[in-house]
Amino acid sequence: MTYEMILVRFGEITIKGRNRNRFEKMQLDQIQSVLGGFPALTYERAYGRVYVRLNGESYEQVAALLKNIFGIVSFSPVVRVAHDLQEIREASLALLQGMTPAPRTFKVSVKRGWKQFPHNSIEMNHLVGAHLLRNTPSLKVDVRQPEAELRIDIQYEGTFIYCVVEKGAAGFPLGMNGKAMLLLSGGIDSPVAGWMAMRKGLAIEAVHFHSYPFTSEQAKDKVVSLAKRLSFYSGRIRLHLVPFTEIQTTLAQSGHDSLIITLMRRIMLRITEQLAERNGALAIVTGDSLGQVASQTLVSMNVIGRATVLPLLRPLVMMDKQDIIDHAHRIGTYSTSILPYEDCCTLFVPKNPAIHPSLKTVEQVEAKLAESMERMIAEAVEGTEVVVLSGKGEQKQSVAEDRAAPPAESGVSAASVGSEDDWF
Ligand code: ATP
Ligand code: MG
Repeated sequence: MTYEMILVRFGEITIKGRNRNRFEKMQLDQIQSVLGGFPALTYERAYGRVYVRLNGESYEQVAALLKNIFGIVSFSPVVRVAHDLQEIREASLALLQGMTPAPRTFKVSVKRGWKQFPHNSIEMNHLVGAHLLRNTPSLKVDVRQPEAELRIDIQYEGTFIYCVVEKGAAGFPLGMNGKAMLLLSGGIDSPVAGWMAMRKGLAIEAVHFHSYPFTSEQAKDKVVSLAKRLSFYSGRIRLHLVPFTEIQTTLAQSGHDSLIITLMRRIMLRITEQLAERNGALAIVTGDSLGQVASQTLVSMNVIGRATVLPLLRPLVMMDKQDIIDHAHRIGTYSTSILPYEDCCTLFVPKNPAIHPSLKTVEQVEAKLAESMERMIAEAVEGTEVVVLSGKGEQKQSVAEDRAAPPAESGVSAASVGSEDDWF
């Protein structure tokens, strides 16, 4: 069966009025940018959906990209006909007879969104069903578990007939809910947290703290690969690489071994807050999951979180590790995340990290280090290197350019989707 068009359904945009219009336009822009590699496609917008006319492009190739676009709840290859019973019957028959393997049972489901159509859904079920049965002797009706469900969607702009519904990534169009900074380590969790944040409509800029030369070039490359992977879903991603060596060595020498992770995390948040301000981000996303390690007990999260006034978004906080791992496989980050290169935190990890750090003690230690820390934080921010990643390659940016950076773009490019792990 060669299809002429795809019906794309939007997901969570429940907002009404003018904003809805703006968000739907955003969604369409994103679809067009993702499908930019297919020049023959044409688009038509309707309420809560978009029609993509294939004009000879391959349905399978277009569908593979559509599956990863945030905000799309589902899509279907459809045949479009006029509001005419005879046309609907003929197209339905052709569609069913064109299916391989040929279905033995079917049911008809009719949705009449355009109420001026002369027959209601129940009448249409019978009118079309009877025609199919008359012309295909081997076919039977099964309303419970049919091998084919023929759907007829009667809308103002036309009648759409289809049997297949494919799931999209759902969520919101990328960037619809603003921008956040993602704390991206080399681990399994934070890339998954980043994907989830993007799925909820947040544009993301990634921030990674490295302790070169204590951490290797490979450790940095690994984070670049992870960010690049995320850029497959966003079209482009900016990765801030923050030099953290001086801060870490100073903390390691401060004589407060058990608090070092807590102190480090608080400084990471302070630096990220400054980067957020420069880049117009209003929240910080982390891969924290409750109880996973010492820094992720409720007491630790509390003491660490107080270092910033920005909302801390932790998409994985209630998830089990296995579910996070499964997710990492699905988004194609797992195989990179498990590469062995050490992270700056693992290097400095004490034997007995505090699981119940005291905010008072932490603040006292910080007060002693305050002056030199302020300087080191400022230097780390200034020394931050920005790498812009997309499927099309990477590009370095200086701090000065970073300051003048435009808001993150949205849209996955056709060229950017590779294949690793298992995609959905
Ligand atoms: P992950 O698998 O994401 O590394 P984790 O289970 O190893 O998480 P931690 O090492 O405690 O957990 O880190 C908790 C969170 O802190 C990470 O998910 C990430 O958001 C952030 N983080 C940790 N290390 C770094 C780093 N070097 N640079 C940026 N963010 C970091
Ligand atoms: Mg980690």
